[in-house]
Amino acid sequence: MSAPEIDLYTATSALPGMQRRTAESLAFLGLTNVGKLVDHLPSRHVEEHAEAPIAELKPGVVGSARGEVTSCRKAGFARKQRFEAVLADDSGRVELIFFNQPYLAGRIHAGDRLLVQGAPKLRGETLQLANPMFEVLKEDAEPDQRQGAIKPVYPATESLASKEIAKVIDRVLDDALPFIDDHLEDDYRRARSLPELREAYRLLHRPETEAEIELGRERLIYDEFLLLQLAVHMRRAKLRQRLSAPALERTADIDERIRSRIPFDLTPAQNKVVEDLRRDLSVRTPTNRLIQGDVGSGKTAVALYAMLMSVASGHQASLMAPTTILAEQHFGSISRMLEGSSVRVELLTGSTPRADRDAIVGRARAGELDILIGTHALIEDAVEYESLGVAIVDEQHRFGVRQRARMRSKAGDDSTAPHLLVMTATPIPRTISMTLFGDLDVSTIDGLPPGRSPTRTELFHASVRDAAYLLVREAAERGEQSFVVAPAIEAEELQNVEALADELTSGFLSGLRVRTLHGRMHASERDAIMADFRDQRFDVLIATTVIEVGVDVPNATCIVIEQADRFGLAQLHQLRGRVGRGDKPGVCALVADPVTDDGTRRLEAIQKYTDGFKLAEADLEIRGIGDLFGTRQSGLSPFRLADPIRDLELLEQARRDAAAWIAESPDLDRAEDETVKRRMMRAHGAWLDLGDVG
Ligand code: ADP
Ligand code: MG
Repeated sequence: MSAPEIDLYTATSALPGMQRRTAESLAFLGLTNVGKLVDHLPSRHVEEHAEAPIAELKPGVVGSARGEVTSCRKAGFARKQRFEAVLADDSGRVELIFFNQPYLAGRIHAGDRLLVQGAPKLRGETLQLANPMFEVLKEDAEPDQRQGAIKPVYPATESLASKEIAKVIDRVLDDALPFIDDHLEDDYRRARSLPELREAYRLLHRPETEAEIELGRERLIYDEFLLLQLAVHMRRAKLRQRLSAPALERTADIDERIRSRIPFDLTPAQNKVVEDLRRDLSVRTPTNRLIQGDVGSGKTAVALYAMLMSVASGHQASLMAPTTILAEQHFGSISRMLEGSSVRVELLTGSTPRADRDAIVGRARAGELDILIGTHALIEDAVEYESLGVAIVDEQHRFGVRQRARMRSKAGDDSTAPHLLVMTATPIPRTISMTLFGDLDVSTIDGLPPGRSPTRTELFHASVRDAAYLLVREAAERGEQSFVVAPAIEAEELQNVEALADELTSGFLSGLRVRTLHGRMHASERDAIMADFRDQRFDVLIATTVIEVGVDVPNATCIVIEQADRFGLAQLHQLRGRVGRGDKPGVCALVADPVTDDGTRRLEAIQKYTDGFKLAEADLEIRGIGDLFGTRQSGLSPFRLADPIRDLELLEQARRDAAAWIAESPDLDRAEDETVKRRMMRAHGAWLDLGDVG
């Protein structure tokens, strides 16, 4: 190679022979220097097939050939446009058909020389190649000598094809690789049969066999897991080291007083979790625990237990819910349970009037309230506590890692933290919780309160929609209530609900007492409607997904979900969880004519499984991982190549390795940790708030 003085920081535009247009296109892909070029990994590899004369192409067998375009044209119309060309050499001719790519008329012209690859078909006498891979050849292009070579395919753009990117990367690779430092020591790496980092890059850019690609991928996937696991473990270690929480008392007397406030006996499953909590909360190490329990498993009572432990020791507690309705419901039920006690409970949501808000904030700071229940208004800056002992986040799937960090930072000063409990009914498959919530301990409420009968789930196509509403009428005849859920499209929420209500009250539900509820309503109005529904003053509540989470009305036994295929699986499970909460069996009627594959698969899954864990796994399969991470907040999945499900073994290995590494070097400040620490901080420092604690 004749390119001198290239290192990882050499600007792409300064590379010898680089054309300005190509450099600009590369910059558009973010490939502004050599390091970034080398890190631009192939999205896949293809095996190039040896070239043959056109006459030797065989139907059904992938082959490649080159020739001259003798004629071409656009054909078809509207959405069925295609581009056709005839390619010929001395031996014969083949028809090329490109469906849905009429724009190729601008790229391929009569007289051009093309290299094509694909599996042809025989139509009558004519050999046809549909959507072949192709390359327009320069006048003097030599036939490719490599036989069966594996070629990388790079993420490309319209203005820059993968082949061009490949050329640039290939040119800088040999110069660049020696500059890539390994953050793993040789012995460490060899013990795990992983290649050197620079070797991994070489294997992916210039593999000779499939096995080499695998080996290269393994190394990079391991690294992705390792960096995240190091970050997660480091964060956990730091929190444990630097922060302490109040050690709460756990005497038999306190236990008895708390239990006397809860209007039922806790189930064995609830008691098991209460035991975890009693142990956690009585030491100074801040608790960081995820409490998983399916919808209706009784998480609120467990939360109340923890909050009262804090209050009994003279500290405060907070409970944050994802919606105003749920916060109001918690406030209502907890206030009722604490009636006649000296515990002071307050509610703070986005709709709390300014003056009340200021007063509540003042009381929290002065220690004049014991339990503060609310929405994300609770993590706004003004809210501080005199001494927050326990902070609870209900229905965690709506809160990201960041919000959890902020809940924790509300204790009052820099060295104390509350015990943090996160409750979720959307269980996170073990692989995911291990990956992203490696900093949480997990308790599971793995049983339902006694006397529950499972909810039946039925699918109704739109043509038999009336049958779904017959279930509502039947419930009303038994004196039971129903929910009807309209799909919530932000802007049309109100119209959707009102239109559905109009249609139903003059149709399938005529004669029943029907009311509507949606997110646009004023809080006081919403409260009044929920209270009336709980008091059984009307039969049917037509609502948006504002009722999705946590709403608890045991006399409601039927839920109809309109256009059910448009809801996510977790959402459907939550909505279904609104019924079957008392001792009467529930029914969930899904109205849908699913049009997408995913929609169909979601409806199949929700009918098949009632167990939230099974559904979470099905969901993961349908959606892939990107969506599931609470990283919608940060916009990115933490992984580029890794897939926690497929690469489970590497994940577990990396997790063990990271735990041991952090145990030995909690701040990663040994000289040999420098590179790994830099890379970890770059990848995860910001979004895991490692900057704050490190
Ligand atoms: P989730 O886990 O979905 O938040 P909740 O805490 O709202 O569930 O409880 C669901 C319903 O079950 C509530 O009506 C609650 O009062 C009731 N419940 C909870 N625990 C018990 C129990 N041990 N015995 C009887 N009923 C219970
Ligand atoms: Mg709940």
